[in-house]
Amino acid sequence: MSAPNKSYDPVEVEALKPENIERMRDEALAAFAAADSLEALQEAKTAHAGGTSPLALANREIGALPPQAKAEAGKRVGQARGAVNKALAARQAELEAERDARVLVEESVDVTLPHDRVPAGARHPLTTMMERVADVFVSMGYEIAEGPEVEAEWFNFDALNFGPDHPARQMQDTFFVNGPESAKGESGVVLRTHTSPVQARALLDREPPVYVVCPGRVYRTDELDATHTPVFHQIELLAVDEGLTMADLKGTLDHMVRALFGADMKTRLRPNFFPFTEPSAEMDMLCYVCKGESIGNPDRPCRTCSSEGWIELGGCGMVNPRVLTACGVDPEKYSGFAFGFGIERMLMFRHNVEDMRDMVEGDVRFTRPFGMEI
Ligand SMILES: [Zn+2]
Repeated sequence: MSAPNKSYDPVEVEALKPENIERMRDEALAAFAAADSLEALQEAKTAHAGGTSPLALANREIGALPPQAKAEAGKRVGQARGAVNKALAARQAELEAERDARVLVEESVDVTLPHDRVPAGARHPLTTMMERVADVFVSMGYEIAEGPEVEAEWFNFDALNFGPDHPARQMQDTFFVNGPESAKGESGVVLRTHTSPVQARALLDREPPVYVVCPGRVYRTDELDATHTPVFHQIELLAVDEGLTMADLKGTLDHMVRALFGADMKTRLRPNFFPFTEPSAEMDMLCYVCKGESIGNPDRPCRTCSSEGWIELGGCGMVNPRVLTACGVDPEKYSGFAFGFGIERMLMFRHNVEDMRDMVEGDVRFTRPFGMEI
C-alpha cells in the first residue's frame, strides 16, 4: 500500500525547484534576445512560452504538489511566465518596429529618379504645320493632290506660262535632272521648283469644278543658311469653277488665316506678277502678335513683323487663262484662283524659329518641344 503522501514525487518536484524555474526563465529570455527576426522569435515563443514549453509543463506539475507547497510553486512559476511573456512582447514590438523601418526604406519610391520608359517622340513641325493647313481646306471640301518631285520641265514651267527664256529656267535657279539640251527636243526633267505643277496635273486629271490643295517638297539651287535651304515645303491651292472671282480668293485667304491664327485676322493683297496667274498679288496677313498696332508706334515695337503690322505670306492670283487652256479647260467657261506659300517661313514666324537649318538637321532637341500633335 502507498503512504498517504505518496503523490509527492521527487521527479516532479525537481521541475519546480526554484533554480530550475529560474533556468527555464533565463533560457527563454536568452532565446528571445537572440531571435533576430520575427520568424526566429516565433520559434523561440513555441519553444519557451508555448503549451509544451518547460515552464508550461512545470506549471502542470503544480497540481501534483502537496497543498502547502502549491502556493509558493504557483507564485514562482507565475512570476517566471510573466517575465517570459513580458520579454516576448517587448522583443516582438522591437522586431516589428525594425521590420517596419526596413520596409519603409526598401519599398520607398524615389520620385526624383528618371523613369525608364521610352520617351514619347515628336513629329516634325513641318509635317504637322502642313497637315494643319491642309486640314483647313479639307474641311472646306478641298481634295489633297500630290505630284512627283522629279517633274517634267513642261509641267514645272511650260504649262504654267513660263516663257522659254524665263530666268527661273536657268541652271543657277533650278536643279535639272535632264537638261533641255540633252533631251533632243523633248521636255527636260527638273526637281520641281514649286508645287504649282500639281495644279496642271490636277486639271488634266479631273473635270472642273476642281478644288485641290497640294502640299509638298520643292527644290531650288540655294545654299543652306539661316534663311535659305535647297529643299523646302510649299502648300498650293487651286480652285477652278464657273464664276470664281478675286472676291472668292480673298474670302478663302481670310478664312485660312482666321482658322490658323485667330478670329480677328485678315489679309491684304498687293499687286505683283507671276506667269501663271493674272492678275497676280502678294498676300500679306495681319501680324497676329501686334494686330497692326506697332505701325508708327515706337512705344510698341513688334519683333514678329518688324513693326510693319503685316507679314508677307505668299503669292496668289486668278489662274492665267493660258494655263487653263494648256490643261484643257475652257477659259471662257471656267475661271480659277490659286495661291501658295512656304511652310518653313510660316513656321519661322509662327514659332519664332530663327535659323532654317534647325528644320533640316534632324536634331530631336528641335522637334521635341513641338510634341506629338496629330
Ligand atoms: Zn507685329
